[in-house]
Amino acid sequence: VGQEFDNAALVSSDRGSFFHPFTAIADQQANGALVMVEAKGSRIIDASGKEFIDAAAGLWCVNVGYGRREISDAIAAQSQKLPYFHSFNGISNEPSIRLSEKLLSLAPKSMRRVFYGSSGSDANDTAVKMLWYYNICRGKPEKRKIISRDYAYHGVSVASGSLSGIPMVHQNFGIPLDFARHVSRPDLYRDAPLRQCHTEEAYSAYLANELDQMIRAEGADTVAGFVAEPVMGTGGVLPPPRGYFQEIQKVLNLYDVRLVADEVITGYGRTGTWFASEACGMKPDLILTAKGLTSGYLPLSAVFVGDQIWSVFEEASKDGRVFAHGFTYSGHPTCAAAALANLEIIEREGLVEHVAAIAGDFRAAFDAAIGGCAIVGEIRSAGLMMGVELVADRDTKAKLPATAKIAGRVATAARRHGVLVRGLPNSDIIALSPPFIVTEEEIALIATGLR
Ligand code: PLP
Repeated sequence: VGQEFDNAALVSSDRGSFFHPFTAIADQQANGALVMVEAKGSRIIDASGKEFIDAAAGLWCVNVGYGRREISDAIAAQSQKLPYFHSFNGISNEPSIRLSEKLLSLAPKSMRRVFYGSSGSDANDTAVKMLWYYNICRGKPEKRKIISRDYAYHGVSVASGSLSGIPMVHQNFGIPLDFARHVSRPDLYRDAPLRQCHTEEAYSAYLANELDQMIRAEGADTVAGFVAEPVMGTGGVLPPPRGYFQEIQKVLNLYDVRLVADEVITGYGRTGTWFASEACGMKPDLILTAKGLTSGYLPLSAVFVGDQIWSVFEEASKDGRVFAHGFTYSGHPTCAAAALANLEIIEREGLVEHVAAIAGDFRAAFDAAIGGCAIVGEIRSAGLMMGVELVADRDTKAKLPATAKIAGRVATAARRHGVLVRGLPNSDIIALSPPFIVTEEEIALIATGLR
């Protein structure tokens, strides 16, 4: 593989035509692109014929691995039968109906309906508008601020980018918009000691109190929602401290603020349960999913609507109100067929249970291979999601200078050893999230390659 491609010609053509997301133009012009051509299982091959283990599953999404015939067959069959139709004005299609039923059977029992889009960003935008619409229907149009967390990643559209808390997503765009507020992210490694919090419980209480203060300062009747990833992904792979979401939930209940679980990364098994929110003790009113829903084979997002919000929407519709929101591709039949085939693989192969079963060995492999490296400050993980925080000094946790751009350099260097990992934006953290079918041997290769 690779021989049929002229890598140099592709790289040159890429340079002159393709505007890449999240890419420094000067770097791309100088270094040229890595051009991917073919993949199978956890392995991916570039146009020069070099093979890599994809320890990032693309962007946290190719959970069942590459080259699954059942998914591409389902896509081919559905696109021959009915490639597309819209779902506005109550029109429906068979794969989207079956998918909705399937998703509700997997989701927490309080979820009542599923709304579709194409990306994690649009799922977040939909959640924002659902919260606004919910409160407008309840006669509380002022209750519209949404609180998320510093360094959260909820997407890049104008609204979801406002919810995101990663500085580079805001800089140069003049966002966040006015409706968004941010509280501290839970960071046991760096932040908890600074707050003099010596137990996870104490830190959770501290952060819940910060949220309480913010809601009170803003005025509870102006705050509609709190949005959080159960395990923060792009912001550093940060599992919540013990008791965190229970404490947060108490505050939200006190002020009639709805909880949105952004499970765009964690949904469908990444942390070893179908939904991480349940396992973290969240009681969300909306659950947002995308990526792992189709394992990235086609773009699809699903927003689960819980009973409290759904019953307000149902009531409002009796007065003639319509949730005037939705996309050309909401309920896309071919994407739904891809999702059904993907979920069937996950169920049949027991991949969620498999992630839970191998999580310990996955972690142990990295503790052994890189845990002792002078540059490794902390390794954090939940299921098959891992963050490696790099430091200048392990004892003082001193950061490396930002100009070192260490995470990006390590990720680039790892490529030479046949391993694809991600250096998270604006940070010193390497993220790993291999496909669920990664083998023991591949885990060992990733760990030694990264070392
Ligand atoms: N939410 C979370 C938690 C994510 O990790 C991402 C993407 O990484 C998004 C939302 C945005 O998804 P998309 O890139 O599909 O718009």
